[in-house]
Amino acid sequence: MEELRFQVPVVSENKDKPIEVSSKYGLRLLRDYTKSTSLDMLIKYKTGMHHGIDYKVNTGTTVRASESGIVIRASWNKYLGEVIIIDHTPNADNNKRNIYSAYAHLSAYTEGITAGTLVLQGQKIAQSENTGRSTGPHLHFAIIDSPARMEWGVTGATGHVPNSKIFLDPTSFYGKTIKVGGTIYDLSDEEHKKITESLDVKMHLDFPNYSWYGDVYLNKKKVGRIDKDNLDLIAGLSLAELDEIMKTTSFPERGSVVI
Ligand SMILES: [Zn+2]
Repeated sequence: MEELRFQVPVVSENKDKPIEVSSKYGLRLLRDYTKSTSLDMLIKYKTGMHHGIDYKVNTGTTVRASESGIVIRASWNKYLGEVIIIDHTPNADNNKRNIYSAYAHLSAYTEGITAGTLVLQGQKIAQSENTGRSTGPHLHFAIIDSPARMEWGVTGATGHVPNSKIFLDPTSFYGKTIKVGGTIYDLSDEEHKKITESLDVKMHLDFPNYSWYGDVYLNKKKVGRIDKDNLDLIAGLSLAELDEIMKTTSFPERGSVVI
């Protein structure tokens, strides 16, 4: 199992003044209509669900990735304004747990942030603003926890999702460890080289198909086989042992490990 730990996507510049929440997740009252008579003024409200949390921050505040993942959308939506969606489980299968975070009403995206970009937790992704349907500068932050993979078209909004129940209160994610599906280590060529050195892997290159696989030896005993897509398939080597190897091997770029 791999783990995710989400953090608040905006940081207060003043230590004595924490970031203010202007609207919590959950049901809220929305003004429906106003009727005034000569004697009275009637303001009618209706309830609406707020599928995220609003942080009251000035325009230009740095917005950071709440957890590592792959940006799958960084584009305009008429309600959410400039919106970024990060997939935190990019390697999950269709029917596994899929977790996304959404950041709305942004202005400029940080250079290099576009669909397909790998981002690390805390990395700057954009600046907050007041774009889209918004009444004042704030960051709308949502966490989506879906039992199936979701498609995010260029024009599609988070509102396109089939079931709004998958939007959960972000505060229930902060500081907690979220367990998600099986481990897949997505390694760079250099990392592959290092881990194969640690494990003692006899490599087999398949030139016609431009692929490779390796027989894995631990203490000179053959324990299984790995290939580019299936590092998990090391028979006889427990995940804990593999984790230990990953932890004790110094990789140049830990950011390439995603789940
Ligand atoms: Zn909001």
